[in-house]
Amino acid sequence: MKDEGKPPTRKRGDTESLRERGPTSARWKRAVPGPKHTPGVPASPSPRVPASPSPPIHPSSFILHPSKRLGQNFLVSGGVVDRIINALSPHRDETIVEIGPGKGALTTRLVNEAGSVVAIEFDRLLGPALVEKYSSFANFTLVQGDALVTDFCDIIRPATQARVVANLPYNISTAILQRLIEQRSCITEMVLMLQREVVERITAAAGSPERGYLSVLVEAYCETEKLFDVAPGAFRPAPKVWSSVIRLRVRPAVRLETVNEALFRGIVSAGFAQKRKTILNNLRNAPEALQELIKRHGGASIVLCEAGIDLQRRAETLTLSEWSCFSRLLQ
Ligand code: SAM
Repeated sequence: MKDEGKPPTRKRGDTESLRERGPTSARWKRAVPGPKHTPGVPASPSPRVPASPSPPIHPSSFILHPSKRLGQNFLVSGGVVDRIINALSPHRDETIVEIGPGKGALTTRLVNEAGSVVAIEFDRLLGPALVEKYSSFANFTLVQGDALVTDFCDIIRPATQARVVANLPYNISTAILQRLIEQRSCITEMVLMLQREVVERITAAAGSPERGYLSVLVEAYCETEKLFDVAPGAFRPAPKVWSSVIRLRVRPAVRLETVNEALFRGIVSAGFAQKRKTILNNLRNAPEALQELIKRHGGASIVLCEAGIDLQRRAETLTLSEWSCFSRLLQ
């Protein structure tokens, strides 16, 4: 369950390899071709699969075993589905992107309530079953691909803005969240189910030991609202940890006031490199290009003093405006 944002390793000879091998069996011949790559590794653009009539495929035949590697803990609680959809409250005139529709626990409500639904599913065993299941819904589109490399602005066309909903695969949830933030020019809001500890990290305020790179990044770009916790029993298979649903509203204007955003992200990342060290020590061990830049401005202690940041402080104590003040001084 530990989320390090890294693509999981591939295991041969089990049902995972069936998922990756390609359309070799009769069952596979019905499947819509998907990408042959590992999540997170850039590939050619995902094919768009409109919900057109397909030959009948029994959805259960595509599920041999839920894939651990793909974080497949499927929602089985109707009550939790209702709470997520009520929190999202889809409108007839909007586009909703769902990441990882799985067997469609959320999708069925979405296609009935939203204007348009674009679902991104990596698992090539699930894709064809989803296309079949929603073939009578003209507002459903399946993108068979990897959400970590999907161009969200492209898949929602002709819409220019969309909201995102997902019960995210936990092993790559922070990587997906970072991808969503990168793609925020066409995303207005996200309602996401994440591991409870990740939500605690995301919403941790300055001074909290939970605060890290992701908390500062999310605070810069989104307003957050934790909605509710979900017990492991709401999923099959049940995960070992609790989950939480969070709403992230993308800020119309970034709270960084004229900061070079790439530089800001590099500084925050370097500042949190070793959480037990002071920010001064971490900046002294920053990547070479950043160290050079800091040296050109007089060195880490001079710039920290200019920003009014005590040299003994740790990164987790800095507020967003202190990070952006420090970053501005290096521009
Ligand atoms: N939405 C369904 C539900 O709530 O029951 C399934 C959620 S399950 C936690 C995560 C889903 O994300 C699975 O269907 C899995 O195959 C899919 N998935 C995993 N990695 C993905 C990726 N990189 N891009 C898109 N979907 C992915």
